[in-house]
Amino acid sequence: MIKYKKVYDKEERYLAYWMKGQESFAFNRKKRVVVKIGSSSLIHEETGNLNLTKVEYLVRELCDMRNRGMDVCLVSSGAIAVGRQSIGLRERPKDISLKQACAAVGQARLMMTYQKIFSEYNQVAGQILMTKNTMINPVSRENAKNTFEELFGLGVIPIVNENDTVSTYEMQFGDNDTISAIVSSLIGADLLILLSDIDGLYTDDPRTNLNAEFVRVIEKLESSVYDMAKHTTGSDAGTGGMATKLTAAKIATFSGADMVIANGKDVRILHHMLDDTFTGTVFLADKKENFRIADFIMETIG
Ligand code: GLU
Repeated sequence: MIKYKKVYDKEERYLAYWMKGQESFAFNRKKRVVVKIGSSSLIHEETGNLNLTKVEYLVRELCDMRNRGMDVCLVSSGAIAVGRQSIGLRERPKDISLKQACAAVGQARLMMTYQKIFSEYNQVAGQILMTKNTMINPVSRENAKNTFEELFGLGVIPIVNENDTVSTYEMQFGDNDTISAIVSSLIGADLLILLSDIDGLYTDDPRTNLNAEFVRVIEKLESSVYDMAKHTTGSDAGTGGMATKLTAAKIATFSGADMVIANGKDVRILHHMLDDTFTGTVFLADKKENFRIADFIMETIG
């Protein structure tokens, strides 16, 4: 098990500590939070239909974060999964054109559902769809950044997804773990939460190795951490495995945000995070002054 110790930021403030025997990451002091939810956390496993109870809980949690005074951004998958269901496809689509068709239907349905529930809490939400070009092209990157800033200034919660209907292989990020980290970097978020269908990082694949141990905190992304990650996701709905989560961790932590991987089976885990009573793996911010997100995309994902 990785040994835990106190961690400070540049101003010598505690970032994480033990208080009265309880671990705290002081997430409730964060100013700008990105929450990513995967398709498998949003749909009923048995039927593939949208899990409305979960969407409701998620929206309530996000509104409550806003009520605490945080800027909140949601990165939501589900366009393809919801579209596939609406169209009546039994299998997960493999062809890019079929995925795009599903996304065209599903993204609109997903947003309709989000808009409806957010408005019940008097919260306005907006949609931002991105492709790799949005980030690589300096003009569109700046425009996207300005749009996010404007939305936060207006108290709106942006809901982000990849623009699946127009992205082809060359323009595709492919998974929303990466997109959520890129968004965190772009908007200068100080916390990224990946709600997934796994509890967090284990020292090995817990389904095949009974001795695999849960990892609570990662202070630095060393090679031993990459060894722990396995290319498994455990569901057939989303696309991100542990490897994509570690890429996300690199982008987020190098840009100055803490990142958490936690299980989205009960999305109320979000307020437990702010109260420090949750299970999940925390990657502590490790800001690198020379980290440039556009360069990283070109070199690594491009
Ligand atoms: N953008 C895809 C969708 O909304 C999902 C990608 C992912 O789950 O990582 O369906």
